This record gives sequence, structure tokens and C-alpha cells, in this order.
Amino acid sequence: EIYCDNAATTSLDLEVLDTMIPYLTNHFGNPSSSHAIGRKAREAVEEARHKIAKLLNASENDIFFTSGATEANNLAISGAIKTYEVRNVITSRLEHKAVLQTLGQYSQHNDLEIDFVRLDNRGNVDFEQFEWLLKNNQQTLVSLMHGNNEIGNLTDIKKIGEICKKYDAIFHSDTTQTIGKHRFDVTKLYIDYIVGSSHKFHGPKGVGFIYINKYRKIQPHIYGGAQERGTRGGTENVAGIVGMAKALEIAYRNLEEYENYVAFLKSKMITALHDLFGDEISFNGESDSTTDSLPNILNVAFPNLKKGGVLVNRLDALGIAVSGGSACSNLTNNGSHVLKTLNRNLDKDSVRFSFCKYNTPAEIDLIIKAIVDIYEQDIFVRKSVQN
Ligand code: PLP
Repeated sequence: EIYCDNAATTSLDLEVLDTMIPYLTNHFGNPSSSHAIGRKAREAVEEARHKIAKLLNASENDIFFTSGATEANNLAISGAIKTYEVRNVITSRLEHKAVLQTLGQYSQHNDLEIDFVRLDNRGNVDFEQFEWLLKNNQQTLVSLMHGNNEIGNLTDIKKIGEICKKYDAIFHSDTTQTIGKHRFDVTKLYIDYIVGSSHKFHGPKGVGFIYINKYRKIQPHIYGGAQERGTRGGTENVAGIVGMAKALEIAYRNLEEYENYVAFLKSKMITALHDLFGDEISFNGESDSTTDSLPNILNVAFPNLKKGGVLVNRLDALGIAVSGGSACSNLTNNGSHVLKTLNRNLDKDSVRFSFCKYNTPAEIDLIIKAIVDIYEQDIFVRKSVQN
């Protein structure tokens, strides 16, 4: 089996699992309990908060634990809208559903206008039009992601932040695909909310966090106990939080090595695909760029198979896990809203490969070999059908 779908989720690091086990067994206390067993759990939660804050150059008070990035994005958007009487939102059609659906819900129930920033055909933000939109709106929330989960595009959030500052806008960025994969220093960014999801960087699933700029007020998001300073009621996922902090620590310990390694795997794949298909291959968004995309995501528009169905399924049948994100015109899937927005390669069979530190060059060779076999077989099937 080859797993090349690391933008969807990653495997749990065993070192992370080791740090979690004591909090699933002996130290099972409720962090809100005042006895020693509870205090032990509280200590672990606060130590994790401290670790994560330090890695982002933030303060512990700015970090709030959640069940993942979906919840953290919901919290950012609802928090901003409830607290600051937001009237306008500027976002992009390439955002994750965790952002688009949340904004959709709020716009239905509030007097909220949503503007979608203009993008070029590779999915890059038109900064001039973005600034124009900001200039012409007031009480604005900007929600623009850092790394796109489908096509890997990186948006310059430093630049976006500077424009937001100029017009006094609130800035939220969905950083799910870049936390743990890109160095952050929140003191060098003008940003109000960023989010992280543990399972994207070899931590456990169902746990994440939000960073909230200390100048922003926060409203309760889940009502209940006074956990997370009254923002989010509910007993903390202690083992998950401990595991997430450990996973992030490991990720940042080896960041440059990781970036170079996955970029190497990606360029190996790009070269092999060019050799194989020549002009018949293309890449979605900026995913083949070495500077403007995440080093671990490659979204490829393959020629359609004539008889063999969709490439993702064919690869799956050979034990290779990759992801679609395609909107093949001849298939009955809903397709990718990202590729639809770009209106590119909708007639092609698009596949997202997303790498991690555990993928190997030998796996890339095996994937390429599988692709060769699938296409050769397709030609054979096509020929035999024609005959
Ligand atoms: N935002 C982006 C860009 C993502 O890639 C994901 C992952 O699927 C999410 C949000 C949601 O994260 P989670 O699985 O932690 O809810």
C-alpha cells in the first residue's frame, strides 16, 4: 500500500502516540477537577498550550483548543461576526467548505454581504481588486486561506494582513494546511485568527486549535462549563491536546528538512510525468510551482482514460491512495469546487498527490509504474474494442 493523500490526513507518529498513552491511562483526570489527578491533566493541557504558543511566537492566552480546524474556522468567523457587527466579508471561492459553508449560514441569517475576491486562472488573488473591495467596504471580515488543500496554492498572508491593517479590517486565515509545514511568527503578521488541525501534521484526529490575536475580544462559542476561558465549554481532549503539541514540536524541529524532502518528491513526480505524457499533462493551480505552492501538494490533470474509469479508482485498486478533486465531465461526481471555480481542466482526470516525510522516492517510481500500466492497458482496451 502506498499512501499519498497526506493533505486529507496523516498517520500518527509513534513518538506522538507515546506521549498520549499516559493521558489515556494513568493520568485520566478531568483538567477541571481540583484534586491531584485532575491537576495532573490540567498541567498537561497548559504545557501543551505553552508549547504551541511558543512555536508560533504567540502568548498562551491566545491559544484555544478545539475539535479541529473546521470548528476553529467556525469559531473565528462566528466570533468576528458576533463581536464586531461585521457587515461585509471578503473571501475566495477556493476556500475550504469549513469557511464557505459557515459564511453561507451567517449570510442567510444576518445582514451580511459577501464579496469573492477575483482570482487569476491559476487561483492567485488579485491584490489590486482585493484592496479596492476593502476600500469600498466597512466593518469587514477578510477570510483568505494560506495554503489551498486541493491545488496547494500559497497566498501571501503577510501582504493580505498589511492591506487589512490599512483599512482596519479583521483578518482570518485558514492555515490548516500550513501549520506544522511553514514557520509562523504571529508578531510579524497582522492577523487576527489562524487555525491548526493536529491530524494534518501526524498528530491525532479530532483536535485542533485557534490562535486569536490578543486585541480581539472573544465570545462564547460552545456554551457549557468555563473551559478554554469560557469560549468553548466541554471537557478537554487531554490526550489529543498533548499529542497535538508533541506533533507540532516534531514538525517544527525538522521543518526545513521536511520542506526540502517533500519538494524533492514532488519534483521527481513532475519530471516523471512530463517524460511520460509530454504536452498531454498539466497541473492545476500553482501546484507545479516551486515558490507559490505547498511543497507537498501536486494536483495533476491527466488525459482521460478511454475505458478504464477514473484514475483515482484505478490507483486505489492497485493499493495507491490518492485523492480526486476532479470534476470529470464524463463522471457522476460533484466535482471539485476549486477546479470549477478556476474553470480549468474540467474535462481532464485530475488527481491530487500529497506527500509526507514517510513517502519515499521508490514509492514515486511505483506510482509512475502503476500509471504506465493503467494507460497501457487503456490503450489495449481501446484498441481491442475498436477492433
Ligand atoms: N481547512 C482546510 C484547508 C483543510 O484542508 C481542512 C481539512 O480537511 C479543514 C479546514 C478541516 O480540518 P479538520 O479536519 O480539522 O476539521
